[in-house]
Amino acid sequence: MEETLSGARIDPKRLYASLEELGAVGAYDDEGSGLKGVNRLALTDAERDGRALVVRWFKEAGLEVSIDAIGNCYAERPGAVAGSAPVMMGSHIDSVPTAGRFDGCLGVLGALEIIRTLDARKIKTKRPIVAAFFTDEEGCRFGTDMLGSAVATGRIPLDEGYAKTDRDGLTVKAELERTGFLGSEPIGLRKPHAYLECHIEQGPVLRSKNLDLGVVTGVQAICWHELEIRGRSAHAGTTPMSYRKDPGVAAAKINLKLREMTASGEFGPDMRATMGVIRPVPGMINVVPARVVCSADLRNPDDDAMARQEAALIAYYKQVEKEEGVEIRWKRSAQTPRIRFDASVQETIADAADALRLSHERILSGAGHDAQEWSRICKTAMIFVPGEYDGISHNPREYSTEKQCSDGIFTALIALTALANED
Ligand SMILES: [Zn+2]
Repeated sequence: MEETLSGARIDPKRLYASLEELGAVGAYDDEGSGLKGVNRLALTDAERDGRALVVRWFKEAGLEVSIDAIGNCYAERPGAVAGSAPVMMGSHIDSVPTAGRFDGCLGVLGALEIIRTLDARKIKTKRPIVAAFFTDEEGCRFGTDMLGSAVATGRIPLDEGYAKTDRDGLTVKAELERTGFLGSEPIGLRKPHAYLECHIEQGPVLRSKNLDLGVVTGVQAICWHELEIRGRSAHAGTTPMSYRKDPGVAAAKINLKLREMTASGEFGPDMRATMGVIRPVPGMINVVPARVVCSADLRNPDDDAMARQEAALIAYYKQVEKEEGVEIRWKRSAQTPRIRFDASVQETIADAADALRLSHERILSGAGHDAQEWSRICKTAMIFVPGEYDGISHNPREYSTEKQCSDGIFTALIALTALANED
């Protein structure tokens, strides 16, 4: 492998330029930071334009592009051994509404850069290499993250994926059709030999330790609740406090409970919990809200602790209903267990980083990624690259340097080629 790859180097400038060009699709002026942000929510016009650009690049690289029934896009470079299972490298190009230009895009454009590098050196691999991006990884629009890869790997049935709706009642299927990405290929295409993903860390650990890379050991368990708390709307001035059923207070209590649970240590030292959505209706200064739509995002590296913390939270919903006289309707909109990535693929990545004399450590992912879905059906691991400004992400200030990005993708080139030459 090293002989065939000797001298092959990815082009950091070309990689970085492609990140910039894709980052201009869906760009907006962010008032808070004074920077350009990216707003490319899944299956919007902006994301459709981003998809079209990446598909064009795939085709210009001579790759055969296919779209599956949930809109995942696969671009295949043939292998020398006919019919062998491919090695896939992918991620996502959809974004949260206030994103930077690296989240997801680094993995997709990195895969493209690797294929361009292999082509320029006329390097053949035994197995095909597939560069891929998956539908609605972020989950911001249709409420379920990793939707495309979860459908492709069988965790979520296709019909259930199609039926998911956004805030305006538009379905995934209708938006796939509208944007021209309702593909005809069977979901998931064929089972890969291995799956690799390079992603920004989205946290402060690698940068604070001055490491070049993280070899990702897995992903912590994640659970999302969507809540609707119904109370009684009333005049803020004329309604005595004893008459109130205030869903805003109920939401606040639940938010504080999340903080207390994390601080208690009862659910392990690494429990995380966030109420990211709090929307009172009608949302007027002098009106007790009729209802509040809110959310709970629970994380834990331990599955048992996650089960206990969710049970404790559900019991607390009941308690708040009694205390505040409100009705709490909730549903679990996403749930994934603790994922452990394949040890041999982690070794392959670590060996590749060593060959490039890059410093690295094992790291557990705090965020969900497409890789966790693929890890159920084939051996999988991830590479993390550090981010500046404490690894801030889902924010226009998200920033990894050209060197940080290219270190990750250069490592992926060597690891991916090794995997693609396995029997
Ligand atoms: Zn991402």
